[in-house]
Amino acid sequence: MLDWKYYKLTSDLYPRSKPSICAGTQDGKTQIHIAWLGGPDKLMVLEHVVNGSNPPQQEWRLARLAQPAPSGAGVVLTSPIVIRQNGKLALYTDILERKGMSVGRHGFIWDSHGREVRYDFNNRMWEKYLAALEEVRTALAGKQTTMPGASGNCKQCVWYSYCDGELLKNDDLTLVRELGVTKRNEMYPHIKTVAELASANIDQFKSGKRTVFRGLGWDTLVKLQERAKRFNAKTPPSLTEPIKLPVNRRELFFDIEDDTFSGVCYLHGFVERMNHDNSTERYVSFIANTPNAKDEEQAFREAWEFLANATDAVVYYYSHHERTTYIKLSAKYPTVCSEADVKKLFDSDRTIDLLKIVGRSEWPTRDTSIKTLAKFAGFRWRDPHPSGAASMEWFRQWVDGGSVDAKNRILDYNEDDCRATRVVLDEIRKMSSRL
Ligand code: SF4
Repeated sequence: MLDWKYYKLTSDLYPRSKPSICAGTQDGKTQIHIAWLGGPDKLMVLEHVVNGSNPPQQEWRLARLAQPAPSGAGVVLTSPIVIRQNGKLALYTDILERKGMSVGRHGFIWDSHGREVRYDFNNRMWEKYLAALEEVRTALAGKQTTMPGASGNCKQCVWYSYCDGELLKNDDLTLVRELGVTKRNEMYPHIKTVAELASANIDQFKSGKRTVFRGLGWDTLVKLQERAKRFNAKTPPSLTEPIKLPVNRRELFFDIEDDTFSGVCYLHGFVERMNHDNSTERYVSFIANTPNAKDEEQAFREAWEFLANATDAVVYYYSHHERTTYIKLSAKYPTVCSEADVKKLFDSDRTIDLLKIVGRSEWPTRDTSIKTLAKFAGFRWRDPHPSGAASMEWFRQWVDGGSVDAKNRILDYNEDDCRATRVVLDEIRKMSSRL
């Protein structure tokens, strides 16, 4: 939560012409945390002497470092306001303005390619920021109850453990997959928990094809109630419609690792299984030894040749990320393959995005990420803290410091991701046989 001593430490720095303020440390000595603002930012202070202004006017440049910032900025509100990067930049701009040191209502954000993007606050955005600020003040004064809401951003957020505990303790409606904060807030005056939704007589909320809840159709409410019931009763997963899966004797489960900030794809992994027999499994990987283009291309070339030659295999992957990344790689390295080649492979009957199949099933889980579903099916990753973000960090440790342990961790994690895809496929096959 907000700690004014950090604000003061940050605030004290910039009049003394420090060129930048970084979450973590300043000059390697002084602890200057601005974590209360929600993320690992770097503030670049640029001074302008306008008409001999004293103190000089300044603007702050906000650099994104290491990981995306959370949406909640540490204080979570019941109303559907979203305080993302622009909210933080508005806050910094406001601070300069109140100190009479601002050149205007704008700042800069560095994007994932290191480009500076100017951000101008028009009146509407500024009013939104002021409304959000007021809500934060009200919450901090204890005049308004705050509550978290599960979203796709939560797992990367520094508040995740705390919020997750609150969500579970409160049996919060956002635990129901795809219910979301906006719908939760609409329903909240009438239905507060998953258990209440599961047992509610929802006919009372029907209004023609819609419901009394703004933006919520009747069919969606029926579906969400079914999910709430399944979630509560831990009903086994089932298909919502029949599916037909290929029966090739050779299967490949495919997953890549890439750095979302630099855009480098450093690992292509495959678990191969024969005759649906897990004892035949073997892991094949193609890894770039450095983030340099030459090594990235080499790993891509080897992986592409492996895939293109596996004409007898059915290839499973999870979500569109692999297809999208391969299209980008083909544009970067056209001597390996063309975009048309990639599309032909990924759009063929022997290449299957398992997430699309999962979309035709219902699970008693909060989301349908590969980690959630494979864990539900009993699978465990060998690494105690598996995540794509951790994999990026291990890659850096390996290429920068030569840590072989870090390299092995990446490979184990990727192999387990591939194997988790197989576990989910087998669960779907079981569901299919029960239809
Ligand atoms: S964990 Fe989720 S709900 Fe909590 S502050 Fe972060 S983004 Fe918001």
